[in-house]
Amino acid sequence: MHDVLIIGAGPAGLSAALWCDELGLDTLVLEQDEATGGQLSSIHNPIDNYPGLRAADGAEFRQRLIEHTKDCEFDLWTQVQIGSVDLKAKRVVLKSGEELQAIAIIIASGLRRRTLGIPGEAEFAGRGIIESGAKDATAVAGRDICVIGGGDAAAENALLLAEVCPTVTLVHRGKKLRARREFTEPLQTHHSVTIFPESRVLRILGNDRIEAVEIERAQAIKPFQMAVQGVLIRIGFAPNTEFVCAQLNMDDRGYVLVDSSQETSVSNVFAIGDVANPLAPTIAGAVGAGATAAKVIASRLKSN
Ligand SMILES: Cc1cc2nc3c(=O)[nH]c(=O)nc-3n(C[C@H](O)[C@H](O)[C@H](O)COP(=O)(O)OP(=O)(O)OC[C@H]3O[C@@H](n4cnc5c(N)ncnc54)[C@H](O)[C@@H]3O)c2cc1C
Repeated sequence: MHDVLIIGAGPAGLSAALWCDELGLDTLVLEQDEATGGQLSSIHNPIDNYPGLRAADGAEFRQRLIEHTKDCEFDLWTQVQIGSVDLKAKRVVLKSGEELQAIAIIIASGLRRRTLGIPGEAEFAGRGIIESGAKDATAVAGRDICVIGGGDAAAENALLLAEVCPTVTLVHRGKKLRARREFTEPLQTHHSVTIFPESRVLRILGNDRIEAVEIERAQAIKPFQMAVQGVLIRIGFAPNTEFVCAQLNMDDRGYVLVDSSQETSVSNVFAIGDVANPLAPTIAGAVGAGATAAKVIASRLKSN
């Protein structure tokens, strides 16, 4: 029996664990990945907006976070696969069969990048699917690239790649790009960039590596193939809430609804960080929510 079970060891989960430790709560953190830090491992640009601390990238920020929790006494299990969760009973059963019980549960499971689910997307991971324009620009220089998505992330990556690639084709479903003007203006005039609105990629094709994409355009009579050697997909994020979705009040996109204590619709179950913050997901917001949940739980346990 633990005081607190925390699901997810990104910035939110680690902040909650740090606070739980400081407040003397017996805490176990469950992380599905081998490494902690969550989305920090996908940040390849400098982090300049976290008050009081700058980092060259997410890896450096993560290192500092881990360093900070080094002397804490909470337990952390990585590569954990959750089998089932009973939030009312505060019970988590792992796929390994282990049963865990706590007084409070904190859900800090964050977001994942949305995928298209089209043929070729999974098959060409690491063989032409580009993880990040900031990280991979040198590796893909000289190749023709297709970027999928119409928001800031797609537009920003397309611009980065256009500096080193002969052609970058941006394919998006809307009539207009949703991205901020600071990205769309330079994109529209960049000699290497072609924008396909009202279009979608149906398949990614190739043998050992990506060789083409099949595109459907509103203006075209039938789908056509375009030769590319790389594809970068930025179509937004989805909250990791499938494992608890039937038990909690959520919005229509699957984000957990919480009150000002970060408490969910189930008593003594809290949700913190991006999983409960569809409007403004940030590291600062995530760590702040972790502190709030830990302090509320500690004061409840003290008064019981
Ligand atoms: C490219 C990029 C750039 C960014 N730049 C900035 C920036 O400059 N400034 C800023 O403030 N923010 C930035 N962010 C956002 C920031 O990274 C997030 O707001 C922050 O990581 C949220 O932390 P979190 O702990 O809520 O979620 P996450 O970081 O998503 O961590 C969630 C953790 O939960 C784990 N998990 C999920 N499901 C389960 C499960 N069932 N069982 C166990 N574990 C599970 C995941 O593996 C992950 O480790 C950026 C994000 C990206 C992708």
